Amino acid sequence: MKAAVVRSFAEPLVIEERPVPTPAGHQVLVRMETSGLCHTDIHAAQGDWPIRPNPPFVPGHEGIGIIEAAGDQVGHLAVGDRVAIPWLGEACGHCDHCVSGWETLCPEQLNSGYSVDGSHTEYALAHGTYVVRVPDGIDPLDAAPLTCAGVTTYKAVKLSGARPGTLALVSGIGGLGHLALQYARIFGAETVAVDVTDEKLALARELGADHVIDARVQDVAEEMRRLGGAHVAVSLAVSNESFDAAYASLRRGGTLVLVALPAEGKLELPVFDMVLNGTKVIGSIVGTREDLAEVFRLHGLGRTRVVRETRGLEEINSAIEEVLKGEVPGRLVFDMR
Ligand code: NAD
Ligand code: ZN
Ligand code: ZN
Repeated sequence: MKAAVVRSFAEPLVIEERPVPTPAGHQVLVRMETSGLCHTDIHAAQGDWPIRPNPPFVPGHEGIGIIEAAGDQVGHLAVGDRVAIPWLGEACGHCDHCVSGWETLCPEQLNSGYSVDGSHTEYALAHGTYVVRVPDGIDPLDAAPLTCAGVTTYKAVKLSGARPGTLALVSGIGGLGHLALQYARIFGAETVAVDVTDEKLALARELGADHVIDARVQDVAEEMRRLGGAHVAVSLAVSNESFDAAYASLRRGGTLVLVALPAEGKLELPVFDMVLNGTKVIGSIVGTREDLAEVFRLHGLGRTRVVRETRGLEEINSAIEEVLKGEVPGRLVFDMR
């Protein structure tokens, strides 16, 4: 089988020929159909974050495929089932986070495509308890971006408190942002989309954004003040500047949800302003298996549209360049069928 492998943070990925692995215990062997390229894979391949993965490793955590074999401890899934392999590869299942619906905060967790090999490969091993069934009728090309970009922004918008009557700022209309915008609309908010390319701003309009701001030529905070200030803002652009602008866009009592993770990501908070204005800043990491099931259900009802283009796995290095240049409409998805 072919796998895309990060051998060193300084070099392009290598397509390697590897033996198909055998599942044991709780593992399932998944024949990958599709795998989305998240910006996180690029951070992983470049070793951008304080906790780094250990090369060689296979990135990818938006993996969709069919179970081909299962270990003897897997009772609830069968060969032939279509499943999603998300970022949360495995958690302990018994800590206070795991038992209170916050498995995404489990300190013992393993992450697909980061601490364990992920989905940019023709066959992947995954923990049967942490894969999520993909309902019939959902195109595997749509299911892939929903498995990280979808669930992450669905959770972030949920946590933000967006609801009818609120003004929601979505900063960065990329893989995550184009779905965040749709969830903010589903939750009933009036939406403002911010980006720095004509194509992404056009996409935001097409997806129903009530307002768009071009951060290249407009002052985001000033435009937001004109609109009354954001009740909620979700930061999805890989840029520290955009965090400052999103914070400054909040109205009194507003909430900023941080999601994007640039290398050296920083936001300096003005304490006086924060205290007097009662603003909140929270971090949000992916979503649970239940959140992903909800995301699939919404998509099955036709409430979301996944904007994506396909590439071959062997094009992974040029695909990464396309994402870094901001040239991708929505998501790139590797099609391995
Ligand atoms: P992406 O590259 O597809 O999208 C980023 C978007 O931001 C692009 O549309 C780009 O044009 C836009 N942008 C760049 N500069 C901007 C600016 N100054 N203002 C507004 N927009 C600007 O990336 P993605 O896959 O959507 O991921 C975004 C970030 O989220 C990455 O850092 C990724 O690692 C992180 N992420 C976090 C989680 C989580 O759980 N917290 C999950 C997945 C991804
Ligand atoms: Zn991701
Ligand atoms: Zn746990």
